Amino acid sequence: MTNKPVRVRYAPSPTGHPHVGNIRTALFNWLFARHHGGGFIVRIEDTDTARTVAGAVETILGGLKWLGLDWDEGPDAGGDYGPYYQSERLKIYTEAAGRLIVQGDAYHCYCSPQRLKEMREEQARQKQPPGYDRRCRSLSAEEKAGCEAKGMKPVVRFKFPREGVTEFNDLIREKVKFENALIDDIVLIKSDGYPTYHLASVVDDHLMQISHVLRAEEWLSSTPRHLKLYKALGYEPPLFAHLPMLLGSDRSKLSKRHGAVSITEYREQGYLPAAMLNFLALLGWSLDDKTEILTRQELIDSFTLERVNKTAAIFNTEKLGWMNGVYIRALSPSEFSRLALPFLDRGLPPQVKRPLSTDYVNRVLPLVHERARTLAEVPDLTDFFFTGSLEYAAEMLIAKRMDRESTLKALETSLKRLEAMSGFGEDALEAVLRPLAVELGLKAGQLFGVLRVAVTGRTAAPPLFQTMTVLGRENCLKRLVEATTRLRQMAK
Ligand code: GLU
Repeated sequence: MTNKPVRVRYAPSPTGHPHVGNIRTALFNWLFARHHGGGFIVRIEDTDTARTVAGAVETILGGLKWLGLDWDEGPDAGGDYGPYYQSERLKIYTEAAGRLIVQGDAYHCYCSPQRLKEMREEQARQKQPPGYDRRCRSLSAEEKAGCEAKGMKPVVRFKFPREGVTEFNDLIREKVKFENALIDDIVLIKSDGYPTYHLASVVDDHLMQISHVLRAEEWLSSTPRHLKLYKALGYEPPLFAHLPMLLGSDRSKLSKRHGAVSITEYREQGYLPAAMLNFLALLGWSLDDKTEILTRQELIDSFTLERVNKTAAIFNTEKLGWMNGVYIRALSPSEFSRLALPFLDRGLPPQVKRPLSTDYVNRVLPLVHERARTLAEVPDLTDFFFTGSLEYAAEMLIAKRMDRESTLKALETSLKRLEAMSGFGEDALEAVLRPLAVELGLKAGQLFGVLRVAVTGRTAAPPLFQTMTVLGRENCLKRLVEATTRLRQMAK
């Protein structure tokens, strides 16, 4: 630890929908800040104009808000170290780069994209490590003036030492060592005048008094460059912690091939934010070897970098589904209905009359509360409660060890008995149908199976009597009549 107050940042580049790995980085920073009573800062790294996507900032911030990751400084929140959009801080970076040039720590490079391409190709042919060959480091004043006269727009490059090693202590990976000779002179300011990520993030982490940089492992190899930049600029560096990589279940880098990768998709698929938060927290961190379910407060209380793994974390979609189910089951029935309603409204077929009756919805939803793993599954689990006619193959009506005739008989007899009932409650249905199975010489499971398909059009559905009660007498009788017709029409 340092004795500086804890200030951490989440520094997304607005280049698209936020990847779950990126949100995991935000979460670890947020947990670290909240655990230490420090500051959590959001900074938008939008200096790569070619890759910036309109609306991406809103999507990223929307993802944070959805998960309840509140920030103390940043867009909307303001703060003493703004602006928090790098595109509004260009002067600061130009000034820093100018200072490095004056000090002799940076230089103008006029190499054209064409020359750099040829250089890379040559390096590949010679089996040399790729990297800038430092040609412009030693341009004479005349050569420079010549380039300027031709109107060539230079980039600014950092003069990285050619000998020695850069070592540092990563809070997760411990001692890390890089050979300086293998590190080339990175660009600090591009020819469009915008800074690169390297310069902008170093300058901002310093000016925003960031105490700890917690970021994805892919940035580990940038850290020696950053450390030398800190030194050249006369800044004290923050502490670094590089978070383990996220892999898909096949142990390759988590990507679209593995399914949804943006937090927005998970939200749309009906994962609960509390479940997502819990799941993401366990990607590379654990409380112990067994605890899976942790509340937001428990995560804050127990989150430390000591328990962050060095090894990659596997994004297990199965486990996420299980965990989401746990969180869904923990909701009160009314909370579940409230959250599922928009999914139902969006997911049911268009011919279902809108607005849906709240009263009816509140009777249907408790029947699938235990079974839903995501809110988006709810329309599929319940559509037969809402649609007018069912679609299923007549064969489905025939239960195990039954045939067309015995099924027809079962349906017709049930229909008669149900028609004769005065009430239509769960207990009354059971009192009529259980003895009926015995009377027909069927197992209860066989008769109920036939009736289940007849009233729901599927073999797996919520408990039969509850389902029939909610569907109501009229609907059930109509569906039983339809089922007998279907079976009669079925080719023998
Ligand atoms: N803008 C970088 C990213 O989106 C930030 C990396 C860092 O945290 O230093 O990954």
